[in-house]
Amino acid sequence: MTRYDTIIIGAGPAGMMAAISSSFYGKSTLLLEKNRRLGKKLTGTGGGRCNVTNNGTLDDLMAGIPGNGRFLYSVFSQFDNHDIINFFQENGVKLKVEDHGRVFPTTDRSQTIIKCLEMKMLENGVDIRTGKEVVSVKKIDDLFHVNTPDETFTASQLIVTTGGKAYPSTGSTGFGHEIARHFKLAVTEIEAVESPLLTNFPHKKLQGISLDDVTLTFGKHRITHDLLFTHFGLSGPAALRLSSFVKGGETAFLDVLPTHSEQDLAEHLERNREKSVKNALRELMPERLADFFAEGYDCKVKQVHTSERENLLTKLKALPIHITGKMSLAKSFVTKGGVDLREINPKTLESKKVPGLHFAGEVLDINAHTGGFNITYCLATGWVAGSLHY
Ligand SMILES: Cc1cc2nc3c(=O)[nH]c(=O)nc-3n(C[C@H](O)[C@H](O)[C@H](O)COP(=O)(O)OP(=O)(O)OC[C@H]3O[C@@H](n4cnc5c(N)ncnc54)[C@H](O)[C@@H]3O)c2cc1C
Repeated sequence: MTRYDTIIIGAGPAGMMAAISSSFYGKSTLLLEKNRRLGKKLTGTGGGRCNVTNNGTLDDLMAGIPGNGRFLYSVFSQFDNHDIINFFQENGVKLKVEDHGRVFPTTDRSQTIIKCLEMKMLENGVDIRTGKEVVSVKKIDDLFHVNTPDETFTASQLIVTTGGKAYPSTGSTGFGHEIARHFKLAVTEIEAVESPLLTNFPHKKLQGISLDDVTLTFGKHRITHDLLFTHFGLSGPAALRLSSFVKGGETAFLDVLPTHSEQDLAEHLERNREKSVKNALRELMPERLADFFAEGYDCKVKQVHTSERENLLTKLKALPIHITGKMSLAKSFVTKGGVDLREINPKTLESKKVPGLHFAGEVLDINAHTGGFNITYCLATGWVAGSLHY
């Protein structure tokens, strides 16, 4: 049985940062990860480029973390997105800011981020064990006993950073919720969010088209962001964000040209009245999308009857899209629900009932939009949980 000050279960962004902070504060630290490699899910973020944080203000962070973001005020006062940016820059990683405040390594490679975290852990003397699945945890007197199939490790502090239940193929299978239940802590209901949407749309015609900053509206929700048409429906940040508000059976409306008013579009058509509808629209949007909207108007703009022109304008500004469902947890990006925040001290992320037991990252009942917001709160909660105020 090997004894440490701190054991961390799970090497995602939360776990790796918790290991860095615990070791920085002089604690002997063990990080256990069941995958052979570190940060498997993190590798796939931002289209494989690692969307490591977002450079917005605190208000932007709160808007980007719709699931219990307010719990994080104390965490962000200790370690926030600017600390994340400084951390990587001080450790030799050059970063760049893209649209919507998304921050990436200039290499456009996730490995740059993972390697930096790994290097820092090794520099601080963290004992990193990959290919080690934790199968059970017990607390005997003041010590946590952490069992893998062939070894037991003990520590007075345990940090659970096993992630949620989304994309379980990356390793996040909800084991941390089981640890919480073992210690009689409440876990809130789990639901898939940031999920691609299934629609009854003519997928084949539009499949593969991606649009920048279009607006999806559903009831009072109005989301302007990038959108991707896929073979099953809609993906990309706009669709993922909308998924928090729909279950299937709703109709959303898509404005493909939100910076143009209906009046602007009417004038555009009038200016191009000698052209075919198709060609007039092709000046405003990708060809295949223009052809889709021009279907049924196989003529010049001037030949389209006024009432038909109005129908066309309405479709361009508010195309009804019937949502038939959303992808399951297995294909969703984020888990809503997790360890009940009423169980957790927001300053230290320690369990109020079980001294020494900490939770950080997506295992907690916190969910954020993609765009760097999840990774931000995971890294920040990891740092705070690892700071171990004892
Ligand atoms: C495809 C995809 C794209 C995404 N893109 C973005 C994005 O652009 N921006 C954004 O903000 N967020 C994005 N996210 C969400 C983000 O990646 C997660 O919120 C974040 O990785 C969660 O970090 P975590 O450290 O809490 O958990 P995870 O990254 O899930 O790590 C948990 C780790 O714990 C390990 N583990 C679990 N159980 C055990 C056990 N019993 N023993 C040992 N180890 C165990 C797992 O193997 C895993 O490595 C994306 C998610 C996906 C799936």
